[in-house]
Amino acid sequence: MMNTPLVLHGLIDRAEKYFPKKKIISRTHSKIHRLTYKEVAERTRRLASSLETLGVKRGDRVGTLAWNHHRHLEAYFAIPCMGAVLHTINIRLSPQDLIYVINHAEDQVLLIDEDILPLIEAIKDQLTTVKKFVVMSDETSLPASTIESLYSYEQLIAAGDPDFSYPDDIGENDPLGMCYTSATTGKPKGVVYTHRGIVLHSMALGLADTTGISESDVCMPVVPMFHVNAWGTPFAATWFGTTQVLPGPAFTPKLLAELIQNEKVTITAGVPTIWLGLLKELEAGSYDMSSLRGILCGGSAAPKGMIRAFEEKHKIPFYHAYGMTETTPLALYSRLKSYQSDLTGEERLEVLAKQGIVVPGLDVKIVNENGEVDWDGETMGELLIRGPWIASEYYRDDRTSDSFKDGWLYTGDIATIDEEGNVKLVDRTKDVIKSGGEWISSVDLENVLMAHEAVFEAAVVAVPHPKWQERPVACVVLKEKYKDNVTKEELLDYLRPQFAKWWLPDDIVFLDEIPKTSVGKFLKMALRDQLRQHLSV
Ligand code: ADP
Repeated sequence: MMNTPLVLHGLIDRAEKYFPKKKIISRTHSKIHRLTYKEVAERTRRLASSLETLGVKRGDRVGTLAWNHHRHLEAYFAIPCMGAVLHTINIRLSPQDLIYVINHAEDQVLLIDEDILPLIEAIKDQLTTVKKFVVMSDETSLPASTIESLYSYEQLIAAGDPDFSYPDDIGENDPLGMCYTSATTGKPKGVVYTHRGIVLHSMALGLADTTGISESDVCMPVVPMFHVNAWGTPFAATWFGTTQVLPGPAFTPKLLAELIQNEKVTITAGVPTIWLGLLKELEAGSYDMSSLRGILCGGSAAPKGMIRAFEEKHKIPFYHAYGMTETTPLALYSRLKSYQSDLTGEERLEVLAKQGIVVPGLDVKIVNENGEVDWDGETMGELLIRGPWIASEYYRDDRTSDSFKDGWLYTGDIATIDEEGNVKLVDRTKDVIKSGGEWISSVDLENVLMAHEAVFEAAVVAVPHPKWQERPVACVVLKEKYKDNVTKEELLDYLRPQFAKWWLPDDIVFLDEIPKTSVGKFLKMALRDQLRQHLSV
């Protein structure tokens, strides 16, 4: 067989050649843009040529601080196709972490959305490697700014060469991009993606047994393009000539519902908090969601109650997937097998709420102190993954040896695996509750609590206990209309028949809000501190 390199420019070349008329629908601060792949491909070449003029060389890191829109998509291709490295930066990181990741990656140029500019102005003097800043805006005139060396994105596009040729000697193992984990503890850790890894991952997103993204889809990533590359969907969708809807800055559940309805979105992807918000909106207003063939949910466990509401009430198929920054991210995908099609009700939901089976191309195993665990759906151990789109190290970081051993990525997630091979995440190693030497899954308790009609969100965390070492306490946010008429005893009575006695939370604390990480996950560390103060333990 030929050994042709798996490199990124083949993806956008294909979109331009075979799907020039297909559209990218992109919302920015001022309007909704409708561009064709032909236009986006040309603008991408112009951007690459202008970045070269700005001094970007092979291997240089170029950072982006931007929402989901067409300019960010152009940067996704221009930077790697010219041989530089796309560093998508999480705009919700703290200023200290922003400084850390930009300096650690040694970014040379930053592409920044206009509304994010103040964030960078505040820290610019501490950025040691950045030489040039580009503001992404609908305007060609530059905004007033304290940043020197500021360029207008649209001026760069206008000045760029539409016939720019990407170098043809980029190797498939060359770096394409990098992301840092949002690191709920310690400093963020960098992961470098190769061209080969991204191309193979894009192919995996097109498989019928995973997300099956195809030309006929209208794909709307709600997951930010700064969170594990919007789970790789912009790369795959471009390759397949899929219509893309990029929802832009500061979107609301109402705006998402309108975009789905008006643009006839068929597949959309995001974390559970996004879908909880959409669910609320669908209950309040009336929208036509009939174009949707699936909602893709990952990043943290999808509560069973939410899956039920989408599937049964709104007739929208709901797909639960699992991944990490280190896994590009698609690794597990939940789907009923063909011979399970007669499963209904709770049994069906039970399977769908698991994180699923490993996608083709990767291997997983679950190990504890006794070795690999049995496929009994009960024995807990740490989830290990390996494969061609799994990182093999952290970028210049001595924490590499904690997570990468014997050719496997140690995910830090505790899981079980059932007789069908479905993996179910029980907890992260740092969140699991150890009561009297046994483990209690916070995720299981949260799932059941969130299935209660009065509960909007629930997070269960460990609090120290003199006898049992740790005990679970549930933090519950009630839906507005139930705020004054549900008691903790009622919720405990509801949990009692569903769990062993020693799994029941020692207390239920009602909160107005659960603290979340920059990517919308429960921030359990903050919650534990809050509770310790509240309970004086
Ligand atoms: P961070 O590690 O900073 O949270 P990532 O976005 O890389 O950043 O998060 C990966 C982690 O998210 C996984 O290790 C796992 O704990 C969690 N996760 C991802 N998908 C799921 C899922 N479907 N169900 C439960 N947890 C998930």
